Amino acid sequence: MHSNSKAYLVGGGIGSLAAAAFMVRDGHLPGANISILEAAPVLGGSLDGAGDPASGYSMRGGRMLTTDNYECTWDLYKSIPSLSHQGKTVFDETVEFNEQHKSNAMARLVDRRRAKVPVTSMGFSMQDRMELLKLSQADEDAMGASRITDWLSPGFFETEFWYMWSTTFAFQPWHSAVEFKRYLLRFLLEFSRIETLAGVKRTIYNQYDSLVLPLQTWLKAQGVRLVTDCKVTDLDHKTEAGKFVVTGLHCTRQDKSETVAVNDGDLVFLQNGSMTDASSLGSMTSAPAPLTKEDSGGWTLWEKLAEGHPEFGNPAAFNRSIAQSCWESFTVTLKNPDFFDDMTGFSGNEPGTGGLVTFKDSNWLMSIVLAHQPHFLNQPAGVQVFWGYSLFPDRVGNFVPKPMAECNGAEILRELCGHLRFDLDTVATANCIPCRMPYITSMFMPRVRGDRPLPVPRGSKNLAFISQFVEIPDDTVFTVEYSVRAAQMAVYQLLGIERDIPPVTPHDKSPRTKFEALIKAFK
Ligand SMILES: Cc1cc2nc3c(=O)[nH]c(=O)nc-3n(C[C@H](O)[C@H](O)[C@H](O)COP(=O)(O)OP(=O)(O)OC[C@H]3O[C@@H](n4cnc5c(N)ncnc54)[C@H](O)[C@@H]3O)c2cc1C
Repeated sequence: MHSNSKAYLVGGGIGSLAAAAFMVRDGHLPGANISILEAAPVLGGSLDGAGDPASGYSMRGGRMLTTDNYECTWDLYKSIPSLSHQGKTVFDETVEFNEQHKSNAMARLVDRRRAKVPVTSMGFSMQDRMELLKLSQADEDAMGASRITDWLSPGFFETEFWYMWSTTFAFQPWHSAVEFKRYLLRFLLEFSRIETLAGVKRTIYNQYDSLVLPLQTWLKAQGVRLVTDCKVTDLDHKTEAGKFVVTGLHCTRQDKSETVAVNDGDLVFLQNGSMTDASSLGSMTSAPAPLTKEDSGGWTLWEKLAEGHPEFGNPAAFNRSIAQSCWESFTVTLKNPDFFDDMTGFSGNEPGTGGLVTFKDSNWLMSIVLAHQPHFLNQPAGVQVFWGYSLFPDRVGNFVPKPMAECNGAEILRELCGHLRFDLDTVATANCIPCRMPYITSMFMPRVRGDRPLPVPRGSKNLAFISQFVEIPDDTVFTVEYSVRAAQMAVYQLLGIERDIPPVTPHDKSPRTKFEALIKAFK
């Protein structure tokens, strides 16, 4: 790799932003040689967050992080300056914030009587423990595309543990057993504190303001070209000495077609697939439109590339069933403190200390979380914002006789107030914006090895993949960390960087202590 090589990043999610930063920081590639090409009008991909008090705030997700894992994420953010605390990095300010606002949920599960469910016991039977042990020690290749239900009996899905674990991480019973096993091991430490979410770390504001903006600002200062409204529709390629080489990019930019030549020594990084592809927003008076990949075209490039190239994976394993990968979130903007006051009284948690409150018997399996306020950089005093989601939007509600998928924001608020037994007056000023995400758990779909390409596939000379749909041993998808780790692996390999990538923290060192830790966790 020489210093006049150019790098093109297709997609502007956190994965690409991280890759650009690693190329500058560790690969010493001049920022001006790097272009990020993003189809949307803003960078950040799934880590979105925008709005104002008049039109309402909206974010597709609210993220939980940890400082015990997320090794590559913090390796990156230890170098990115904070935008609001001069002289500090994003890592420093986040750690300080979490020392001041510790998670200690006191109303993690609420039942149909509106009672807080005691959750110090996981509710496991002996059979659950034996099955969990077997699953957590199984070989991934032997597990193949099996589902969680292939390993655990029906009673397990009624345990307090399942309600907490599945709503913390968004697992469904039909999801990949391999992925569930990886979570059990990667987040083994969380077993001892899952009922209080004490291990969860939060960013100061929503993740667009706290993670995307500082990184984007730093990249801009390094001269990185940040190109939005630019969709890459095709790649030209050739085979050279048996290697796959990208030679050009076709883009649509502001409705005009453009071609970018990829020369010898240049690199291309592709964000293949997105959990928020084809997502749509509703309003107080309308439900989100039921879009699919045919509307967005978001998977097409990966699908084209994978055709006839098994080393580039199998997108159909992930995007084949919206019914199994869809759920809905909602963001609520309030201009009167009643709801927050009542929620604080009910849960016993000040906003920012409680984490998820899950209505475990709700048909939609609804959860909400009240973050520390303000949650947006531009959020004035007197305005509050909270986020919630439901794992079963296809089911008829308990208080609204409709599936959530057909509900507008006002109907979602009615359902929420029903579970809380709050007067509708508490949300009289509310603006609730629903968000449908048809592929939100596509990464959890059952898969076999080979369905996901390696960050740098075998036989590729200058093409790498950075996303939730690449194969990384031991790490867990549906995390910011997975995309950042994929970025670091792809960049270090293609640029020949010798610096060590922080390893996935071993959940335990020897097979013996690992077994003992598992027994203790499943007690
Ligand atoms: C509701 C929700 C809750 C979450 N909760 C957590 C959590 O608690 N903890 C956690 O760590 N993580 C969480 N995540 C996951 C985390 O946000 C994602 O893993 C991460 O943001 C994915 O980043 P990415 O860069 O890989 O992909 P994305 O953010 O999906 O970005 C991909 C980008 O590429 C663009 N793109 C794709 N193809 C093209 C093309 N051909 N041309 C141009 N642009 C293209 C897309 O427009 C998109 O912007 C959550 C996500 C959501 C949505």
